[in-house]
Amino acid sequence: MGKNGKNGNGKNGGGKNGKNDPAGWLTPAVTALRVGAVGPIAGFDADSTPGFSGSRELGEQLLAERGEVLADLQELLYANGRAGDNRSVLLVLQGMDTAGKGGIVRHVGGLLDPQGLAIKGFGKPTPEELEHDFLWRVHKALPPAGRLGIFDRSHYEDVLPVRVHNLVPQSEWEKRYAIINQFEKELVESGTTVIKCALVVSKAEQKARLTERLERPDKYWKYNPGDIDERGFWDDYLQAYQAIFDRCDSDTAPWFLIPANHKWFARLAVCELLISALSGLDLDWPPADFDVATELERIRSLDD
Ligand code: AMP
Ligand code: MG
Repeated sequence: MGKNGKNGNGKNGGGKNGKNDPAGWLTPAVTALRVGAVGPIAGFDADSTPGFSGSRELGEQLLAERGEVLADLQELLYANGRAGDNRSVLLVLQGMDTAGKGGIVRHVGGLLDPQGLAIKGFGKPTPEELEHDFLWRVHKALPPAGRLGIFDRSHYEDVLPVRVHNLVPQSEWEKRYAIINQFEKELVESGTTVIKCALVVSKAEQKARLTERLERPDKYWKYNPGDIDERGFWDDYLQAYQAIFDRCDSDTAPWFLIPANHKWFARLAVCELLISALSGLDLDWPPADFDVATELERIRSLDD
């Protein structure tokens, strides 16, 4: 496992892996995709690949390679969690219908050890959830020590559809930006690294993906007639997204804008962002809490 040790030195971020240059990342994903660098969302090109100059083929090959780096880092995080380190990582995924949130969970999460993951999807709040404050269900789903949590939708839904449709009065949803900032600040202070990714598809790409869901019986399950109604509020959603970027992006809990018309790019980008987040923890293998020489001696003296 010697190669894993290298991941503790914090030098794996941003695709700066000698052999990946020069055709891959020209600017590290953490810099190229930060909302402040690529926004506003209204004029955002969902076909673009900010910071990355390579082809789809290279992108797919890189995802396989970088996925291994990420898996090694996740194992380090998990090992440290088992050894009493309280740190964890939380990836928040947002995006309009068909943006590919589920695909990120499957294709990036799928590169990792399921034991070390804590995946939670947030749908319409249940009657019980509605009886509590909007962060109640979020608190319950936070990743335990040593885990990589993935939220497929999140507390941001409470200022996205809720804002667009005034599901609670504006006086109430207005307060939520500050509440979310405070919540995330405390989360980070208590040892959770937070990164937030908004996947962006173009209107045309969404139409194509919705159509595909109706053309293939194996995709019917993903189709929700309500998605067409939501599409009618496209510009309102763009405004609501811009508001979360303007009000809830910070160096402690940054927002990234991920162009997602090319699924391969979105997956590669999220993988790189996770590598950066985990590298930043500067993890190393936890030391043995037993005497290695003594244990080896005990094993040597066992019967075959
Ligand atoms: P899906 O991700 O396709 O399973 O859809 C989940 C649905 O639940 C989406 O339409 C979301 O906008 C909706 N949703 C999630 N959280 C909330 C919330 N807090 N308030 C209202 N709608 C929500
Ligand atoms: Mg859906």
